Amino acid sequence: MPLSLARSRQLQQRAESLLPGGVDSPVRAFRSVGGDPPFIARAEGAYLYDEDGNRYLDMFGSWGPMILGHAFPPVVEAIREAAGHSSSFGASTAAEADLAALVQQCFPSLEKLRFVNSGTEACMTAIRLARGFTGRSFVVKFEGCYHGHSDAMLVKAGSGVATLGIPGSAGVPAETAMHTIALPFNNLEAVRAAFDARPKEIACIIVEPVVGNAGTIAPLPGYLKGLRDIAHRHGALLILDEVMTGFRLSLGGAQQRYEITPDLTTLGKIIGGGLPCAAFGGRHDIMNFLAPLGPVYQAGTLSGNPLAMAAGIATLEHLIANEQTIYPQLEKTTAQIASGVAAIAREAGVTLTTNQVGSMFTWFFTGSEVTDFASAATSDTQAFGRFHRAMLEAGVWLPPSQYEAAFVSTKHGPEEVALILEAASAAFRRNISQRP
Ligand SMILES: *Cc1c(COP(=O)(O)O)cnc(C)c1O
Repeated sequence: MPLSLARSRQLQQRAESLLPGGVDSPVRAFRSVGGDPPFIARAEGAYLYDEDGNRYLDMFGSWGPMILGHAFPPVVEAIREAAGHSSSFGASTAAEADLAALVQQCFPSLEKLRFVNSGTEACMTAIRLARGFTGRSFVVKFEGCYHGHSDAMLVKAGSGVATLGIPGSAGVPAETAMHTIALPFNNLEAVRAAFDARPKEIACIIVEPVVGNAGTIAPLPGYLKGLRDIAHRHGALLILDEVMTGFRLSLGGAQQRYEITPDLTTLGKIIGGGLPCAAFGGRHDIMNFLAPLGPVYQAGTLSGNPLAMAAGIATLEHLIANEQTIYPQLEKTTAQIASGVAAIAREAGVTLTTNQVGSMFTWFFTGSEVTDFASAATSDTQAFGRFHRAMLEAGVWLPPSQYEAAFVSTKHGPEEVALILEAASAAFRRNISQRP
């Protein structure tokens, strides 16, 4: 049944007259899946409610942060209480070290850390720090990995730009991007060759340990340790970008799951419980290179914001206290959804490749195994678009791009699994295999 989106459509038109594309982040505009994006009025638990009164099962969780579901009462209460004491001071608070201690409890490799406001800032600064610490200029990244929208990282940057079908971004001078080396993911030989070609010139490797921004792609066995070994052999640093995977794939992120200790880590999304907050951290000798102790500069008017700290503390305290139940349950629910829909697709004769790691997953509309960006890009994005629309009309909101991971929260239970399986059956019966 077509959705009634009259009010959302009006709001979109008004937004388009004021905001480019009507949005503050490009993929929200639904350009690649077509149709009108519903405008959200509120959300609770696993469900979003739009301005027309439609309800959707939320499968993108604000792009990762909402692991405990929407309006989780302890988080709401913590924000309320902090707001009553003023929303910003620009001076130190106890809450910053409180959250830092919780982060460190989950991520022991973060001997020291600094809070910033977005994953973009965290990655940009971690790279600056790696360059300052090593005195080198080149950075190795991987095709399809997204590390925020800083100039040097907008090279083969995954989801957002891949969805728009553009290689990078206008406005980035070649001189700025010339020190960024983009290599295929899951290919250690390419990394060895890059280091051999530029001995003592590469400052760091930055990687999404499980790629989420080309859709979900797991590292092959030994890949992450291989990256660390190559980096260290050449005097370079390994940065794990755990903005998406941190506190999601396990309490200690991908580094706990795959037992790998990086030199630096970037965190975001879940760390702020849905408020703008991110962090980077790692070895104390590297972190002490940051101002005010060292020569690498970084600053932020709203960094360590008290509302963000409060929401982060409430979120991490809940995850830490319930680690043993939350993570196995998330993984089980995600498997029921990911494999359940895959089975329904198989019956309906629709070709899908399903990738799942923990509570992240992607259905790629391709018959190829997906292990890197090139194989992800074999997906039929038109078919994905039709599937997305059919699911939305059945009340399930998937991430609006083939190249984005879907997320499961602790509020997704048997009822939600049943809803999504039913929606997928209807979608596959309807319009996925043929064009509308
Ligand atoms: C989301 C994301 C970023 C950027 O974070 P923002 O808060 O959107 O700036 C960086 N790296 C990864 C892996 C991400 O998923």
